[in-house]
Amino acid sequence: MTHHTIYLDNAATTPVAPEVVQEMLPYFETDWGNPSSLYELGQRAHSALTDARERIAAHLGARAQDIYFTSCGTESNNWAIKETMFAYREKGRHFITSATEHHATAHSALWLEKRGYEVTYLEVDSDGLVDPEVFRRALRPDTTLASIIYGNNEIGTIQPIRELAAIAHEAGVLFHTDAVQVVGHLPVAIEELGVDFLSASGHKFNAPKGVGLLYIRRGIKTKSFLDGGAQERKRRAGTENVPYIMGMARALDLSIQHLDERREHAVELRDHLIARVLAEVPYSRLNGHPALRLPGNANISFEFGEGESLLLMLEQKGVLASSGSACASGSLDPSHVLLAIGLPHEIAHGSLRMTLGHETSREDIDYTVEAIKEVVARLRTMSPLYEDFLAGRKAVSAVKS
Ligand SMILES: *Cc1c(COP(=O)(O)O)cnc(C)c1O
Repeated sequence: MTHHTIYLDNAATTPVAPEVVQEMLPYFETDWGNPSSLYELGQRAHSALTDARERIAAHLGARAQDIYFTSCGTESNNWAIKETMFAYREKGRHFITSATEHHATAHSALWLEKRGYEVTYLEVDSDGLVDPEVFRRALRPDTTLASIIYGNNEIGTIQPIRELAAIAHEAGVLFHTDAVQVVGHLPVAIEELGVDFLSASGHKFNAPKGVGLLYIRRGIKTKSFLDGGAQERKRRAGTENVPYIMGMARALDLSIQHLDERREHAVELRDHLIARVLAEVPYSRLNGHPALRLPGNANISFEFGEGESLLLMLEQKGVLASSGSACASGSLDPSHVLLAIGLPHEIAHGSLRMTLGHETSREDIDYTVEAIKEVVARLRTMSPLYEDFLAGRKAVSAVKS
Protein backbone atom coordinates (compact mmCIF):
# COMPACT_ATOMS: atom_id res chain seq x y z
CA MET A 1 0.00 0.00 0.00
CA THR A 2 1.37 3.39 -0.88
CA HIS A 3 0.55 6.45 1.11
CA HIS A 4 1.72 10.05 1.11
CA THR A 5 4.20 11.03 3.80
CA ILE A 6 2.62 12.02 7.09
CA TYR A 7 4.87 14.53 8.81
CA LEU A 8 4.35 14.38 12.57
CA ASP A 9 7.57 16.06 13.67
CA ASN A 10 6.59 19.72 13.73
CA ALA A 11 8.38 20.25 17.05
CA ALA A 12 11.64 19.48 15.23
CA THR A 13 10.93 21.88 12.40
CA THR A 14 8.08 23.06 10.18
CA PRO A 15 7.90 23.56 6.41
CA VAL A 16 8.45 27.11 5.16
CA ALA A 17 5.11 28.62 4.10
CA PRO A 18 4.91 29.66 0.40
CA GLU A 19 3.91 33.20 1.46
CA VAL A 20 7.09 33.34 3.54
CA VAL A 21 9.22 32.39 0.52
CA GLN A 22 7.49 35.15 -1.50
CA GLU A 23 8.13 37.68 1.27
CA MET A 24 11.85 36.85 1.33
CA LEU A 25 12.57 36.91 -2.43
CA PRO A 26 12.93 40.71 -2.92
CA TYR A 27 15.60 40.78 -0.20
CA PHE A 28 17.68 38.32 -2.19
CA GLU A 29 16.95 39.77 -5.62
CA THR A 30 16.62 43.56 -5.39
CA ASP A 31 16.79 44.93 -1.81
CA TRP A 32 19.88 42.97 -0.85
CA GLY A 33 21.86 45.86 0.67
CA ASN A 34 23.50 45.92 4.07
CA PRO A 35 21.04 47.57 6.48
CA SER A 36 23.92 49.51 8.07
CA SER A 37 24.85 51.19 4.76
CA LEU A 38 23.73 54.79 4.42
CA TYR A 39 22.88 54.82 0.72
CA GLU A 40 19.43 54.04 -0.59
CA LEU A 41 20.08 50.32 -1.24
CA GLY A 42 21.09 49.80 2.37
CA GLN A 43 18.35 51.98 3.73
CA ARG A 44 15.72 49.92 1.94
CA ALA A 45 16.98 46.88 3.83
CA HIS A 46 17.05 48.94 7.02
CA SER A 47 13.39 49.98 6.62
CA ALA A 48 12.50 46.34 6.04
CA LEU A 49 14.16 45.43 9.35
CA THR A 50 12.31 48.19 11.17
CA ASP A 51 9.04 47.03 9.66
CA ALA A 52 9.69 43.39 10.63
CA ARG A 53 10.62 44.36 14.18
CA GLU A 54 7.46 46.43 14.60
CA ARG A 55 5.16 43.72 13.25
CA ILE A 56 6.76 41.03 15.39
CA ALA A 57 6.72 43.20 18.53
CA ALA A 58 3.03 44.05 17.99
CA HIS A 59 2.12 40.35 17.65
CA LEU A 60 4.04 39.52 20.83
CA GLY A 61 2.86 42.39 23.02
CA ALA A 62 6.29 43.99 23.35
CA ARG A 63 8.04 47.21 22.34
CA ALA A 64 9.90 47.02 19.03
CA GLN A 65 13.10 48.29 20.73
CA ASP A 66 13.09 45.25 23.00
CA ILE A 67 13.18 42.67 20.17
CA TYR A 68 16.68 41.54 19.09
CA PHE A 69 17.13 39.32 16.05
CA THR A 70 19.41 36.30 16.43
CA SER A 71 20.42 33.31 14.32
CA CYS A 72 18.26 30.77 16.19
CA GLY A 73 16.54 29.79 19.39
CA THR A 74 19.75 28.20 20.62
CA GLU A 75 21.63 31.48 20.31
CA SER A 76 18.83 33.35 22.11
CA ASN A 77 18.94 30.95 25.07
CA ASN A 78 22.75 30.98 25.24
CA TRP A 79 22.81 34.76 25.10
CA ALA A 80 20.13 35.33 27.74
CA ILE A 81 21.63 32.82 30.15
CA LYS A 82 25.40 33.17 29.83
CA GLU A 83 25.63 36.92 29.33
CA THR A 84 23.12 37.77 32.05
CA MET A 85 24.88 35.55 34.57
CA PHE A 86 28.15 37.21 33.60
CA ALA A 87 26.81 40.78 33.59
CA TYR A 88 25.34 40.39 37.10
CA ARG A 89 28.08 38.17 38.55
CA GLU A 90 28.68 40.69 41.37
CA LYS A 91 25.08 40.22 42.49
CA GLY A 92 25.36 36.46 42.61
CA ARG A 93 26.45 33.36 40.77
CA HIS A 94 23.40 31.18 41.33
CA PHE A 95 21.23 30.14 38.37
CA ILE A 96 17.95 28.23 38.53
CA THR A 97 16.47 26.13 35.74
CA SER A 98 14.33 23.00 35.43
CA ALA A 99 15.24 19.38 34.79
CA THR A 100 13.19 19.37 31.55
CA GLU A 101 14.82 22.11 29.50
CA HIS A 102 15.85 21.98 25.85
CA HIS A 103 19.57 21.24 25.43
CA ALA A 104 20.20 24.89 24.48
CA THR A 105 19.37 25.77 28.09
CA ALA A 106 20.54 22.59 29.83
CA HIS A 107 23.96 22.74 28.16
CA SER A 108 24.28 26.47 28.86
CA ALA A 109 23.71 25.57 32.52
CA LEU A 110 26.52 22.99 32.34
CA TRP A 111 28.75 25.64 30.75
CA LEU A 112 28.04 27.90 33.73
CA GLU A 113 28.79 25.11 36.21
CA LYS A 114 32.16 24.48 34.57
CA ARG A 115 32.99 28.15 35.09
CA GLY A 116 32.24 28.30 38.77
CA TYR A 117 28.58 29.27 38.74
CA GLU A 118 26.11 27.26 40.79
CA VAL A 119 23.01 25.76 39.19
CA THR A 120 19.81 24.42 40.76
CA TYR A 121 17.83 22.06 38.53
CA LEU A 122 14.21 22.10 39.70
CA GLU A 123 12.48 18.75 39.73
CA VAL A 124 9.11 18.46 38.02
CA ASP A 125 6.07 16.37 38.91
CA SER A 126 4.97 13.31 36.91
CA ASP A 127 3.15 15.60 34.42
CA GLY A 128 6.29 17.65 33.92
CA LEU A 129 5.14 20.72 35.86
CA VAL A 130 7.42 22.91 37.99
CA ASP A 131 5.82 23.55 41.40
CA PRO A 132 5.82 27.34 42.01
CA GLU A 133 6.41 26.75 45.75
CA VAL A 134 9.44 24.59 45.02
CA PHE A 135 10.69 27.39 42.79
CA ARG A 136 10.11 29.97 45.53
CA ARG A 137 12.12 27.89 48.01
CA ALA A 138 15.02 27.53 45.57
CA LEU A 139 15.48 31.31 45.28
CA ARG A 140 18.44 32.66 47.24
CA PRO A 141 20.00 36.09 47.84
CA ASP A 142 22.73 35.21 45.34
CA THR A 143 20.31 34.01 42.64
CA THR A 144 20.64 36.18 39.54
CA LEU A 145 18.52 34.49 36.89
CA ALA A 146 16.00 31.71 36.43
CA SER A 147 15.20 30.12 33.08
CA ILE A 148 12.16 27.89 32.65
CA ILE A 149 10.91 26.48 29.37
CA TYR A 150 7.40 27.69 28.44
CA GLY A 151 6.10 24.75 26.37
CA ASN A 152 8.14 21.59 26.53
CA ASN A 153 9.45 20.42 23.15
CA GLU A 154 9.32 16.74 24.12
CA ILE A 155 6.29 16.18 26.34
CA GLY A 156 4.34 19.37 25.54
CA THR A 157 3.73 20.45 29.14
CA ILE A 158 3.04 24.19 29.50
CA GLN A 159 4.54 25.82 32.61
CA PRO A 160 2.84 28.57 34.66
CA ILE A 161 5.31 31.18 33.38
CA ARG A 162 3.41 34.28 34.52
CA GLU A 163 3.28 32.97 38.09
CA LEU A 164 6.92 31.84 38.07
CA ALA A 165 8.12 35.21 36.70
CA ALA A 166 6.17 37.04 39.43
CA ILE A 167 7.74 34.86 42.13
CA ALA A 168 11.21 35.53 40.71
CA HIS A 169 10.59 39.27 40.69
CA GLU A 170 9.40 39.30 44.32
CA ALA A 171 12.86 38.00 45.15
CA GLY A 172 14.62 40.45 42.81
CA VAL A 173 15.59 37.66 40.39
CA LEU A 174 15.52 38.02 36.59
CA PHE A 175 13.44 35.56 34.58
CA HIS A 176 14.00 34.06 31.11
CA THR A 177 11.66 31.71 29.27
CA ASP A 178 12.39 29.55 26.25
CA ALA A 179 9.14 30.09 24.34
CA VAL A 180 10.35 28.47 21.11
CA GLN A 181 7.50 25.93 21.06
CA VAL A 182 4.86 28.48 22.06
CA VAL A 183 5.41 31.54 19.85
CA GLY A 184 3.29 31.18 16.72
CA HIS A 185 1.12 28.47 18.32
CA LEU A 186 -0.47 30.07 21.37
CA PRO A 187 -1.12 33.74 22.16
CA VAL A 188 1.92 35.36 23.79
CA ALA A 189 1.77 38.86 25.31
CA ILE A 190 5.29 39.34 26.64
CA GLU A 191 4.82 42.45 28.76
CA GLU A 192 1.72 40.99 30.42
CA LEU A 193 3.56 37.73 30.96
CA GLY A 194 6.10 39.74 32.92
CA VAL A 195 9.28 37.97 31.81
CA ASP A 196 12.60 39.77 31.38
CA PHE A 197 13.82 37.64 28.48
CA LEU A 198 12.00 35.44 25.97
CA SER A 199 13.44 33.28 23.17
CA ALA A 200 11.68 32.33 19.93
CA SER A 201 12.78 30.63 16.71
CA GLY A 202 11.38 31.13 13.19
CA HIS A 203 11.58 27.55 11.94
CA LYS A 204 9.12 26.30 14.56
CA PHE A 205 6.37 28.43 12.95
CA ASN A 206 6.91 28.12 9.18
CA ALA A 207 9.84 30.53 8.73
CA PRO A 208 13.25 29.19 7.61
CA LYS A 209 15.82 27.59 9.91
CA GLY A 210 18.54 29.98 11.08
CA VAL A 211 16.59 32.97 12.39
CA GLY A 212 15.27 33.70 15.86
CA LEU A 213 14.80 36.45 18.37
CA LEU A 214 15.42 37.38 21.95
CA TYR A 215 13.19 39.80 23.83
CA ILE A 216 15.10 41.77 26.47
CA ARG A 217 13.10 43.95 28.79
CA ARG A 218 14.19 47.61 28.83
CA GLY A 219 16.73 48.58 31.44
CA ILE A 220 18.35 45.19 31.69
CA LYS A 221 22.09 45.13 31.63
CA THR A 222 23.28 42.39 29.36
CA LYS A 223 26.33 42.29 27.16
CA SER A 224 26.51 41.37 23.52
CA PHE A 225 26.99 37.65 23.00
CA LEU A 226 28.87 38.27 19.75
CA ASP A 227 31.55 40.96 19.66
CA GLY A 228 31.80 43.09 16.55
CA GLY A 229 29.77 45.83 14.92
CA ALA A 230 27.04 48.05 16.30
CA GLN A 231 24.07 46.14 14.91
CA GLU A 232 20.91 45.59 16.98
CA ARG A 233 21.56 48.69 19.09
CA LYS A 234 25.09 47.43 19.86
CA ARG A 235 23.74 44.31 21.50
CA ARG A 236 24.11 41.69 18.80
CA ALA A 237 26.93 42.18 16.35
CA GLY A 238 26.72 40.65 12.88
CA THR A 239 24.97 41.83 9.72
CA GLU A 240 21.27 41.13 10.08
CA ASN A 241 19.79 38.32 7.98
CA VAL A 242 17.25 40.60 6.31
CA PRO A 243 15.50 38.04 4.06
CA TYR A 244 15.01 35.55 6.89
CA ILE A 245 13.91 38.22 9.34
CA MET A 246 11.31 39.38 6.80
CA GLY A 247 10.28 35.75 6.37
CA MET A 248 9.94 35.35 10.13
CA ALA A 249 7.75 38.47 10.33
CA ARG A 250 5.48 37.12 7.58
CA ALA A 251 5.37 33.68 9.23
CA LEU A 252 4.28 35.26 12.50
CA ASP A 253 1.65 37.41 10.70
CA LEU A 254 0.20 34.18 9.25
CA SER A 255 0.41 32.29 12.54
CA ILE A 256 -1.40 35.03 14.42
CA GLN A 257 -4.01 35.42 11.68
CA HIS A 258 -4.87 31.70 11.86
CA LEU A 259 -4.01 31.11 15.52
CA ASP A 260 -7.43 30.12 16.87
CA GLU A 261 -8.50 27.87 14.01
CA ARG A 262 -5.11 26.13 13.86
CA ARG A 263 -4.99 25.63 17.60
CA GLU A 264 -8.51 24.16 17.70
CA HIS A 265 -7.66 21.88 14.78
CA ALA A 266 -4.44 20.67 16.41
CA VAL A 267 -6.04 20.13 19.82
CA GLU A 268 -8.91 18.14 18.32
CA LEU A 269 -6.63 15.88 16.28
CA ARG A 270 -4.12 15.54 19.12
CA ASP A 271 -6.83 14.42 21.53
CA HIS A 272 -8.25 12.03 18.95
CA LEU A 273 -4.79 10.54 18.40
CA ILE A 274 -4.10 10.19 22.12
CA ALA A 275 -7.54 8.72 22.90
CA ARG A 276 -7.34 6.15 20.12
CA VAL A 277 -3.80 5.01 20.89
CA LEU A 278 -4.39 4.70 24.63
CA ALA A 279 -7.63 2.77 24.01
CA GLU A 280 -6.37 0.51 21.24
CA VAL A 281 -2.75 -0.21 22.17
CA PRO A 282 -2.37 -2.08 25.46
CA TYR A 283 0.36 -0.96 27.88
CA SER A 284 0.66 2.52 26.43
CA ARG A 285 0.74 5.75 28.46
CA LEU A 286 0.63 9.47 27.74
CA ASN A 287 3.63 11.55 28.80
CA GLY A 288 3.20 15.18 29.81
CA HIS A 289 0.24 17.02 31.26
CA PRO A 290 -3.12 15.83 29.84
CA ALA A 291 -4.58 19.36 29.53
CA LEU A 292 -1.79 21.92 30.04
CA ARG A 293 0.00 20.87 26.87
CA LEU A 294 1.03 22.29 23.51
CA PRO A 295 -1.79 22.00 20.95
CA GLY A 296 0.02 19.66 18.56
CA ASN A 297 2.01 17.48 20.98
CA ALA A 298 1.34 13.79 21.69
CA ASN A 299 4.09 11.87 23.49
CA ILE A 300 3.27 8.23 24.20
CA SER A 301 5.30 5.40 25.71
CA PHE A 302 4.80 1.78 24.74
CA GLU A 303 5.97 -0.86 27.15
CA PHE A 304 7.98 -3.54 25.36
CA GLY A 305 8.45 -1.17 22.42
CA GLU A 306 11.75 0.35 21.45
CA GLY A 307 11.73 3.95 20.22
CA GLU A 308 14.29 3.71 17.44
CA SER A 309 12.70 0.59 15.95
CA LEU A 310 9.25 2.14 16.26
CA LEU A 311 10.47 5.15 14.31
CA LEU A 312 12.09 3.13 11.54
CA MET A 313 9.07 0.87 11.12
CA LEU A 314 6.72 3.86 11.08
CA GLU A 315 8.88 5.57 8.49
CA GLN A 316 8.47 2.50 6.26
CA LYS A 317 4.74 3.18 6.47
CA GLY A 318 5.25 6.85 5.58
CA VAL A 319 4.87 8.27 9.09
CA LEU A 320 7.64 10.60 10.31
CA ALA A 321 7.81 11.08 14.07
CA SER A 322 10.46 11.32 16.74
CA SER A 323 11.54 9.43 19.82
CA GLY A 324 12.55 11.67 22.68
CA SER A 325 13.71 14.80 20.88
CA ALA A 326 15.44 15.22 17.54
CA CYS A 327 18.48 16.64 19.29
CA ALA A 328 18.73 13.59 21.55
CA SER A 329 18.35 10.99 18.82
CA GLY A 330 21.60 9.43 17.80
CA SER A 331 22.41 8.91 21.44
CA LEU A 332 21.32 5.78 23.27
CA ASP A 333 20.61 7.57 26.55
CA PRO A 334 16.90 7.93 27.16
CA SER A 335 15.63 11.49 27.11
CA HIS A 336 16.44 13.50 30.27
CA VAL A 337 12.91 14.91 30.10
CA LEU A 338 11.25 11.48 30.24
CA LEU A 339 13.53 10.44 33.10
CA ALA A 340 12.70 13.69 34.94
CA ILE A 341 8.97 12.86 34.93
CA GLY A 342 9.85 9.55 36.54
CA LEU A 343 9.72 7.06 33.69
CA PRO A 344 11.94 4.02 34.17
CA HIS A 345 14.67 3.67 31.51
CA GLU A 346 13.00 0.84 29.64
CA ILE A 347 9.71 2.69 29.29
CA ALA A 348 11.39 5.96 28.36
CA HIS A 349 13.13 4.01 25.57
CA GLY A 350 9.79 3.01 24.07
CA SER A 351 8.51 6.54 23.59
CA LEU A 352 7.19 8.22 20.51
CA ARG A 353 6.72 11.96 20.05
CA MET A 354 4.20 12.96 17.41
CA THR A 355 3.80 16.69 16.79
CA LEU A 356 1.01 17.81 14.50
CA GLY A 357 0.91 20.75 12.13
CA HIS A 358 -1.91 22.68 10.52
CA GLU A 359 -1.58 20.50 7.42
CA THR A 360 -2.26 17.32 9.43
CA SER A 361 -5.66 15.76 8.64
CA ARG A 362 -7.94 13.38 10.53
CA GLU A 363 -7.22 10.73 7.88
CA ASP A 364 -3.50 11.16 8.60
CA ILE A 365 -4.16 10.54 12.28
CA ASP A 366 -6.37 7.49 11.71
CA TYR A 367 -3.78 6.04 9.32
CA THR A 368 -1.07 6.70 11.93
CA VAL A 369 -3.04 4.93 14.66
CA GLU A 370 -3.40 1.82 12.48
CA ALA A 371 0.32 1.97 11.66
CA ILE A 372 1.23 2.24 15.35
CA LYS A 373 -1.00 -0.71 16.26
CA GLU A 374 0.69 -2.91 13.66
CA VAL A 375 4.21 -1.78 14.45
CA VAL A 376 3.91 -2.07 18.23
CA ALA A 377 2.30 -5.51 17.93
CA ARG A 378 5.09 -6.66 15.61
CA LEU A 379 7.82 -5.36 17.92
CA ARG A 380 6.22 -7.06 20.89
CA THR A 381 6.08 -10.45 19.17
CA MET A 382 9.86 -10.07 18.79
CA SER A 383 10.38 -9.09 22.43
CA PRO A 384 11.45 -11.85 24.84
CA LEU A 385 10.52 -9.52 27.72
CA TYR A 386 6.98 -9.26 26.46
CA GLU A 387 6.71 -13.08 26.23
CA ASP A 388 7.94 -13.42 29.81
CA PHE A 389 5.55 -10.72 30.90
CA LEU A 390 2.58 -12.44 29.26
CA ALA A 391 3.64 -15.82 30.69
CA GLY A 392 3.99 -14.27 34.14
CA ARG A 393 0.64 -12.63 33.92
CA LYS A 394 -1.00 -15.89 32.90
CA ALA A 395 0.70 -17.66 35.78
CA VAL A 396 -0.54 -15.02 38.19
CA SER A 397 -4.11 -15.15 36.92
CA ALA A 398 -3.98 -18.97 37.03
CA VAL A 399 -2.99 -18.87 40.70
CA LYS A 400 -5.72 -16.40 41.49
CA SER A 401 -8.54 -18.39 39.88
C1 LIG B 1 13.93 23.98 18.59
C2 LIG B 1 14.05 24.48 19.98
C3 LIG B 1 15.14 25.26 20.38
C4 LIG B 1 16.29 25.55 19.45
O1 LIG B 1 15.92 26.42 18.43
P1 LIG B 1 16.87 26.47 17.12
O2 LIG B 1 16.35 27.64 16.35
O3 LIG B 1 16.65 25.16 16.42
O4 LIG B 1 18.24 26.66 17.60
C5 LIG B 1 15.18 25.72 21.66
N1 LIG B 1 14.21 25.45 22.53
C6 LIG B 1 13.13 24.71 22.18
C7 LIG B 1 12.07 24.46 23.19
C8 LIG B 1 13.02 24.20 20.91
O5 LIG B 1 11.97 23.45 20.58
